[in-house]
Amino acid sequence: MRVVVDRSRCVGTGICESTVPDVFEIEDDGRLVIEECDVAPDRLDPVRAAVASCPTQALSLIESER
Ligand code: SF4
Repeated sequence: MRVVVDRSRCVGTGICESTVPDVFEIEDDGRLVIEECDVAPDRLDPVRAAVASCPTQALSLIESER
């Protein structure tokens, strides 16, 4: 699975970063950087929690391309 961000929706709250700081990082300018787009199976649960906690539904999990 891959996690992607819709930048038109992200407002830089940092909730995703506080939920999974090794995957999501907010830059000083408020821009979200996703450190690991390809989500390892053992990281899926916390990343799913971050996706669900985003107040603007900016995050999505999609199937990885093979
Ligand atoms: S929780 Fe959502 S709105 Fe907030 S920084 Fe993360 S992706 Fe952006």
